[in-house]
Amino acid sequence: MNKNFYNILFYTILIMGYAVFAILMSRAYKEVDRQSVSNLFSERSPTIIIDPGHGGEDDGAVAEGGKVSEKDLNLEISKILRDMFKSSGFNVEMTRDTDISIYDRDKNLKSLSEKKTSDLNNRVKIAQNNPNSVLISIHQNSHPDKFSKGTEIFYSPNNKLSEEFAFCLEKIFKKIQPNNKREVKNSKNFIFILKKVTIPAVMVECGFISNYKELLKLKNFDYQKQIAFCIYCAYVEYCNNFYFH
Ligand SMILES: [Zn+2]
Repeated sequence: MNKNFYNILFYTILIMGYAVFAILMSRAYKEVDRQSVSNLFSERSPTIIIDPGHGGEDDGAVAEGGKVSEKDLNLEISKILRDMFKSSGFNVEMTRDTDISIYDRDKNLKSLSEKKTSDLNNRVKIAQNNPNSVLISIHQNSHPDKFSKGTEIFYSPNNKLSEEFAFCLEKIFKKIQPNNKREVKNSKNFIFILKKVTIPAVMVECGFISNYKELLKLKNFDYQKQIAFCIYCAYVEYCNNFYFH
């Protein structure tokens, strides 16, 4: 046996060893991946509650000129998001799916502020109705500084997972807004619905309707789909990271 033969034998064994290792690793990876994906659609998977902010008599923020109301953009983006989740097999509920305020009709409420309080309390009830659920509230921002722009994400202080979901959102939104320096924020006591719910909950202020350029984008169906897709991707990542391990 010459030296060359041993060299060839050595390298052949080495290559075969690598090949077996690679096959085993790829099988293991596929198995983990398959498990994560099927878990997303299992009974353990939370119900996603999409909450399009405002509605009916409550316009939310209104763009300059009064032609575009926050409530309509919230609903448009929420419906796209709902359809994305539903078409992938997720359980989804909406706090509203038409242009209404969901205040108690039987209580003879007169002022807008009474109706808004009742409306918000009912949204909290919908969210709290199922302990295995996650709340995604959709809003638009407004600011006297007409140059303010970019998505802003708030999380509820009542559940640690809210913050984790918010970080997934921040990471994914960076893909479409690489220059957005806004950091995720704990809503503390400032946002009623996030203060009241105990399930994981976030609010996505998709953009500033007070910024003319951003308003044009927010009204655009393709941009609305991008926003919805960012939320969708962030949710999938969040579930994989924090529910199924
Ligand atoms: Zn709002």
